[in-house]
Formats: sequence, C-alpha cells, structure tokens
Amino acid sequence: MTGAERIGVSARGAAAQSVCSACGSAKFRVRFTSTDRLYGTTNTRFEIVECLQCGLTRLSPRPSVEELGRYYPSNYWFDPGESTAGRLEEIYRRLVLRDHVGFVKDALRRTQAKGPLLDVGCGGGLFPGMLRRRGFRALGLDLSAEAAALALRNHGVPAVAGELGAAPIAPESCAAITMFHVLEHVPRPQAYLAAANRLLKPDGRLIVQVPNAACWQFALLGPAWNGVDAPRHLHLFRDTDLQRMLETSGFEVLRRKYFSLRDNPAGLATSLAPWLDPMARRVRRVRESGGARLLKDLVYFSLLVAALPLTIAEAAFRAGSTVMFEARKRER
Ligand SMILES: [Zn+2]
Repeated sequence: MTGAERIGVSARGAAAQSVCSACGSAKFRVRFTSTDRLYGTTNTRFEIVECLQCGLTRLSPRPSVEELGRYYPSNYWFDPGESTAGRLEEIYRRLVLRDHVGFVKDALRRTQAKGPLLDVGCGGGLFPGMLRRRGFRALGLDLSAEAAALALRNHGVPAVAGELGAAPIAPESCAAITMFHVLEHVPRPQAYLAAANRLLKPDGRLIVQVPNAACWQFALLGPAWNGVDAPRHLHLFRDTDLQRMLETSGFEVLRRKYFSLRDNPAGLATSLAPWLDPMARRVRRVRESGGARLLKDLVYFSLLVAALPLTIAEAAFRAGSTVMFEARKRER
C-alpha cells in the first residue's frame, strides 16, 4: 500500500474536509484510491488517506451528507420477508449473531447500571430482538424510519429514526449502548462517542465494533479488503485508533475481541469475490435463475467456510478483521 506522499489540501475538496477528525492535523499521505466495488452506486474514485500525525486512515475529501445519501442503497438493511430463502437467512443470521449477544450479555451482567440497552444502527432489529427474547430491555435507533418500523413489527423492539445526538432519550438513562459497524460510517465519530457517553448511566457500558484496519486481511489484500467499503466507510480504524478515541471520549476500555463469526469469515469471502456477496447481489438486483442463485450462494458459503482458519488465526494474533470493544463510562 504505497501512495504518493502529499501534504495539505486534497484536489477534490475544501481544506476543512481534509483535516483528521481525531487529531486535527491537515497533513496526510494518499494510500490508494477506491470506488464502490460492492454495490456499484458510483464510479467516482475516492482517496483513502493516512493522517501523518496520528495514523488514522480516512476517506478524503469527505462527501457531503447529501452525496453520502446516494451511496446507501434503499434496501440496505435486512428484511427476511415471507420467502423460504428469507427465513433460512434469518436462521443463519441468528446463529452467527450469538457471538455478539454473548459479548453484550457479559457486559450487562458486570455493570451496576440499570436501564435499557440502546442499539444504535439497529437496522431491521434482529439483534435487539434477540436480547429482548433473553429478557433484556432493548431499544433501537436507526437513520432509516423504515428500518425502525421493521424493528418494532418483526421483533417487538421500540425503535426511533434519527441521529444519536438528537435521539429522544433522556441523558444518563441507558445501562448499555451498542454500535455494531456504525462508527466507520459517521462523519464525526467522536461526536457519536460523546453522545453515547451522555446517554449512559454511570458505570454504563458501550459496546462498539468496527472493521480493524490493523488486520492481516488489509495487509494482504490492500484496497480489495472489504473493510475499505468506499465511499461508505469514512474512517478505517485500527484497534489502537479506536482505543485512543474511546479514552479521549470519557471511556475506559475493559475488553477487546477480534473474532466475529458473523463478520470475519464473510468479510474475507466478500473481499475475494464481491460479485458473490448475497447482499451485494440483492442490492444490485442481479437477475439470476433459482438454480444460479443457489449455486452462487453455495460457492459463497464454501468460500466463507474455507476462510475460517485464516480468520481464526489472525484473531488469535489480535489482528482480526473486526474488533469489538467493551468500554465503561468513566467517572467524571
Ligand atoms: Zn490524525
């Protein structure tokens, strides 16, 4: 991953946009350029740059909110619908989400804080629904009103649409907040962490998962690593970047987990064969016969199974392709 070293303002954008959101430095080097490989919403190429001061990698210049909206397909969340394939997929999703559920249950058991859990970026509500079925109070928040409505309808999870900073939730009311694959999508991750800090009770827990740019997959595959996901991923955090950001946002990191059964093997399969990714085929509305669909699903699933040993090994070396943190709200 070499790139021409350049300092200062990027060709496409204003100076304000090329400042590092973690440390404020305007000095960066371009690592590579990338476009929307997965969903094909645009052919524009985006620069992925590394801050020369703190090392955080980001998309630069950052697209405006209006522009970003165009890069999110309308069916970005999962709705199983009524079909057999949809039901099978939901069974699979429940199975691989048990990792997440276990991690969060452990965090909830250890905190003294009492109150609901808020899942930020809840999508169709499967995850908070699984917690609810296990006896926990869970709420959802998503930018999409349609997704929030699905969370209530399909999983009985009260959910609202909106930004975390403007959510109609009382300060210091939540025992826990979860953010799975949210922070890499938001323009100002520190503002999100600060908002989460305000909503948490003392000793409340924040559980946050992001792709880990300090993983073997990124080192091996470079721009083809699916964690890049330009232009939707505005920051590519290394585990150390996120740790620092959590600490400067009023949190104490308690645990890190580098393996996710849902994300790591599927991520490698998608990096190697993005055209087989089931979500990408759905989003791109690829026309395929029932037989072709089944064959592609089987090949993708075989790749995913073949990816398991490498993804387990990299996680064992604390270089997994995702990282999940449990952080405790620090006393002020
Ligand atoms: Zn920086």
